[in-house]
Amino acid sequence: MDIHSASFVISNSDVEKCPNSKIPEYAFIGRSNVGKSSLINALTGRKKLAKTSGRPGKTQLINHFLINDNWHLVDLPGYGYARVSKKEKKTFQKFITDYFLNRKQLISAFVLVDSRHKPQEIDMEFMQWLGLQQIPFSIVFTKIDKLKPAVLDKNIENYVTELLKYWEELPPYFMTSSTQHLGTDKILEYIEQINQNL
Ligand code: GDP
Repeated sequence: MDIHSASFVISNSDVEKCPNSKIPEYAFIGRSNVGKSSLINALTGRKKLAKTSGRPGKTQLINHFLINDNWHLVDLPGYGYARVSKKEKKTFQKFITDYFLNRKQLISAFVLVDSRHKPQEIDMEFMQWLGLQQIPFSIVFTKIDKLKPAVLDKNIENYVTELLKYWEELPPYFMTSSTQHLGTDKILEYIEQINQNL
């Protein structure tokens, strides 16, 4: 897929105020610093798209971008746990879970994980939650340029082994580097294929 247009639409923290259209959307989420803004900019070929909403607190907002006038790329806040009781029961930020539970236009999510790190509990929990809600998702391994090929292979192998403890079938996964523009074309192809079949 060639990107011929990419523009910021709206930011907000309320799923009810997200664009009221039938345009299919794909959401990008992960822990902060995972490389989400860089990936969105690499995908769209726009150096500063993921920051164009530019307001303080932007990272705590749901950001919609319109791509090629026919799909929305959604930049979700870096997730963390919200403490809900003294017992330290943990949950994900409510407006993020509300988004996933209520956003009918959402076709699929991309959960970003740093290829350098071993599987993190919060990412695993989040993927399991998506699975329970029957929300389709893929995994995007980021920053692969930072690893030697053998180490990268080992890390992915470990990740897959961990996933297979919980999942019978692996979700699709992509290996990316935003600085080297690796893997971004595969993600765009994947989105294009789904869009064509909608
Ligand atoms: P976000 O908080 O998830 O949006 O993460 P950013 O996109 O701001 O990236 C966090 C840091 O990782 C920044 O210093 C980026 O320059 C760096 N980074 C992001 N993607 C890559 C990548 O593919 N390769 C390398 N080497 N660094 C990256």
